[in-house]
Amino acid sequence: MHQFIDGRYREGRGDEAKRINPATGEPAETIRYATTDDVDDAVAAAKRAFATWSRCTPAERSDALLALAAELGRRAWDIAAVETTQTGKAIRLATEFDVPGTIDNVSFFAGAARQLQGLAAGEYGAGGTSMIRREPIGVIGSIAPWNYPFQMAGWKILPAIAAGNTIVLKPSELTPGTALIFAEAATAAGIPDGVINIVTGTGAVAGEHLVRHPDVAMTSFTGSTAVGRKIMALASETAKRVHLELGGKAPFVVFDDADVEAAAHGAVAGSIINAGQDCTAATRAYIQRPLFDAFTARVAELMDQVILGDPTDDATDLGSLISHAHRDKVAGFVDRARADGATILAGGHAPGGDLAAGAYYRPTLVVGAAQDSEIVQEEVFGPVLTALPFDTDDEALALANDTPYGLAACAWTNDLNRSLRASAEIQAGCVWINDHIPIVSEMPHGGYKASGFGKDMSAYSLEEYTNTKHVMLSRDKAPHKDWQNTVFR
Ligand code: NAD
Repeated sequence: MHQFIDGRYREGRGDEAKRINPATGEPAETIRYATTDDVDDAVAAAKRAFATWSRCTPAERSDALLALAAELGRRAWDIAAVETTQTGKAIRLATEFDVPGTIDNVSFFAGAARQLQGLAAGEYGAGGTSMIRREPIGVIGSIAPWNYPFQMAGWKILPAIAAGNTIVLKPSELTPGTALIFAEAATAAGIPDGVINIVTGTGAVAGEHLVRHPDVAMTSFTGSTAVGRKIMALASETAKRVHLELGGKAPFVVFDDADVEAAAHGAVAGSIINAGQDCTAATRAYIQRPLFDAFTARVAELMDQVILGDPTDDATDLGSLISHAHRDKVAGFVDRARADGATILAGGHAPGGDLAAGAYYRPTLVVGAAQDSEIVQEEVFGPVLTALPFDTDDEALALANDTPYGLAACAWTNDLNRSLRASAEIQAGCVWINDHIPIVSEMPHGGYKASGFGKDMSAYSLEEYTNTKHVMLSRDKAPHKDWQNTVFR
């Protein structure tokens, strides 16, 4: 069953869809999608639960989240196995990154739930004082993508419920499995029925209905920029708050004083992570000209060593992409770049042999594609890195900023001034220096420009999910206060 509403599993009442295991091409499971009525039921359950969950003390919410962290810890291996089967990602990524990182997020928000504060205020006017109340917003409608289904469930659910909201999450219709386990584990851990609801359905039916729903107070979306724009427009119908985490096209800048070997390793790991289906993945390498040949040769060599294989095998570096259709889309970008005169230094094709039936694609390095070409400008979302040379620091920073996106970036240099300048001038929500990809629960994640706005993780995300109310109390019984005298005497 693929719906979890009001503390229990149930069947959707919509269309049936057959899922294919992307790593094998074999049929996997049949999912019955949510209808708009199912979404209504989930929103109603969340609305009922809000009445009590929003009035829990921070300590009560914190204790419930600590219990959830323990419950998810007990189920970690099962969660990793489901995550791998539904996405095709290498099990090592699920067991060492996705699952422990998300459980750490749960623990973080157990602490953060007790730290909601507002700026204090002192005496105002004659005999008055002010205070700030941090209040939950209501029912949050969240929509998530397929690339990190368990982690995205955590990013959406945790700050929302830590702040006292309740939630209806629509995971990607391709990958609902681990979001459902998340919600069921929360119930097992004692989080009340209706606080976390999962509706599995399509964007057009369940997604749009959730965004439009008058009882949903806020929409929190992670996904593509194209869908994010649509959601922002839909949310305007009810003037609800939106939080958008959208696409990325991260630049990877290597200055001439950098350690080439370290940068090459960072570029391969940073571009092929999760088969490149990572919104912060390194996608555009800009290399100062004296290092260009050495860097690209080493990256190509390392890419050729990457082991593609059965995602459930611990020895596998790279599993399959999410679907055959997506693999073909990635291949199309590379084929068109090649046809336009770019050179493929590694990969550039799907593997054959035992892997031919799966949605695999070899790690790929493309050189010579123009800065304004589609493969450099658009989100490919596959294990594909382009590389271009640059001469001056000014040029590198201009190239880094030259796409509509602004989610993440990195610069490789041992020069303090260069690293400070790059971190100040690159327009992105995260700039790594001498690294690419790591995230921590304490630090925010979010975009600039067409990568969206709003923050996931960290105490900053609690800002997204709370209203800040000013309460002014007047202790002065005098009938004619100064301001009233201004209005009438
Ligand atoms: P997508 O935009 O196609 O779909 C995301 C979600 O939106 C899915 O649940 C889908 O069903 C739903 N949806 C689709 N159309 C909708 C509509 N009209 N109304 C409401 N919901 C709708 O994205 P995807 O292909 O699932 O994921 C890949 C994208 O996600 C990439 O662009 C990637 O960069 C982005 N992403 C961003 C972040 C981030 O933190 N910024 C993180 C992960 C993924």
